[in-house]
Amino acid sequence: MLGLMQDWPLLCHRIIDHAATNAGDQPVISRSIEGPMHTTNYAEIRRRALRVAQRLERDGVRLGDRVATLAWNSWRHLESWYGILGIGAIYHTVNPRLFTDQIVWIINHAEDRVIMTDVTFLPLLEKIADQIPTIERTIVYCDSAHMPQTSLRNAVPYEDWLAEADGDFAWKSFDENTAAGMCYTSGTTGGPKGVVYSHRSNVLHAMTALRPDMIGLSGRDIAMPVVPLFHANGWAIGFAAPMAGAALVLPGQKLDGPSIYQLLTDYKVTCTAAVPTVWLGLLQDLEKTGGKLPNLRRVVIGGSACPRAMISTFQNVYGVEVTHAWGMTEMSPLGTTCSLKAEYAALKGDALLDVLQKQGHSPFCVEMKITDDQGRRIPWDGKTFGRLKVRGPAVAKAYFKDDSNILDEEGFFDTGDVGTIDRYGYLNITDRSKDVIKSGGEWISSIELENLAVGHPKVAEAAVIGVRHPKWDERPLLVIVLKPGEKASKEELLAFLEGKIAKWWMPDDVAFVKEIPHTATGKILKTALRAQFKDYVLPSAAA
Ligand code: ADP
Repeated sequence: MLGLMQDWPLLCHRIIDHAATNAGDQPVISRSIEGPMHTTNYAEIRRRALRVAQRLERDGVRLGDRVATLAWNSWRHLESWYGILGIGAIYHTVNPRLFTDQIVWIINHAEDRVIMTDVTFLPLLEKIADQIPTIERTIVYCDSAHMPQTSLRNAVPYEDWLAEADGDFAWKSFDENTAAGMCYTSGTTGGPKGVVYSHRSNVLHAMTALRPDMIGLSGRDIAMPVVPLFHANGWAIGFAAPMAGAALVLPGQKLDGPSIYQLLTDYKVTCTAAVPTVWLGLLQDLEKTGGKLPNLRRVVIGGSACPRAMISTFQNVYGVEVTHAWGMTEMSPLGTTCSLKAEYAALKGDALLDVLQKQGHSPFCVEMKITDDQGRRIPWDGKTFGRLKVRGPAVAKAYFKDDSNILDEEGFFDTGDVGTIDRYGYLNITDRSKDVIKSGGEWISSIELENLAVGHPKVAEAAVIGVRHPKWDERPLLVIVLKPGEKASKEELLAFLEGKIAKWWMPDDVAFVKEIPHTATGKILKTALRAQFKDYVLPSAAA
């Protein structure tokens, strides 16, 4: 017997319909690329999104076609998303921080037909124009007065293009499993891979993100996603904020400390989200200026591990709650958030920070397991670490145009992360599976060693990699970049780790380098570092 409930497909454009009807006057405030602040609201965003949909259709864009966006967070970017979604086309967010040849590769792989972009990125697009033949038209987020001279064929100012549609248009309806959006992983561990979200997965994921234990927005919130829409599906905020009827502040291109502080203050932002680097910039600025954050209730920090000192400063100096989040492009992207369950609610001081530093627990819609190398589940004891695998309605089951099976026999996706889970379900990421050091059959966490080593006052950056060893398979090598003008010995650095780690975790050697290679998104590029040290002979191996 089937249930007797209505068939109401979970389509993303229903979110903007809901916001326009129930929170139509809620402001959407952007720092425009032209400079001045711009204010609109959800009702107007929906009206313009309908025109985007109508206009795209007139250009021949149809169900399943990919429309790239290469753009900062702004009202135009947001209304384009909904316009694209409303005809069943697919928004493909291109990350401008990728290397140019990766951008060319993913636009070709996605076969994008149209690209919507900010003036900022015209020089880049002009440079690669003859390498991206599938692009028929470039729509530039500006009016004709701000449109620069460009050699791009078929480039039009967005406002002129949009003015050719009157908005007398109805959204299309289709199956909720239809593709909605595309985002390529930035290739931390290999080439970019295309993740394809569906309308259903985006809607369910936004509802999940709205739980109080996750991003937790209400109609009284003023949310500022500093995380760009092009980074891992914009952390769901482009859907979650209008779903909740929360006001939005979109920071455009300026993500430095003073610019972010100005928006937080001027618009009384209550909830914001970004990677640790952004918050480092803000906190450094606040330290200089003595600024305060009286309106900010919560800051969501993820994308890489949030340093303990950052959590402590936000909470203890500024009275702002930190929600440490872990996730990945393949998970839409939120996987876990670190809010306090009843068991931990009374913790204070260091014990509280110990918990808040973890990546947190999973919501309904994300199932986790940790396994050993043979795929056997290992216990949730907070100590044993294993490969982290996940399952859920907003988790990828395959990559775009790629036949390889990425799920195990239980339908779990291997995140490539390694971690522990404690008895209350709190995940602690200890490594990437390709980076964990396997010494005599046991695993050593490179991340934990790195976090400790950067605590040394003379160290600017630290990386730990496994180097071949005749007896132990691999032993850890600590690679160090010293702060300018500093000198330090191997013995001094190793002595600093003593007592903080198990004896057998102690790196066998220290290598001092001028710089450590990074990926386009700023993560340490371990593959390159391992290649650099592939012939390195540890003193313990030579003996
Ligand atoms: P990109 O490589 O483009 O940044 P993702 O955002 O998908 O792509 O990266 C996801 C990976 O980032 C995760 O698998 C994990 O290794 C790392 N990561 C994300 N959040 C955290 C966190 N809070 N702590 C530690 N690692 C994190």
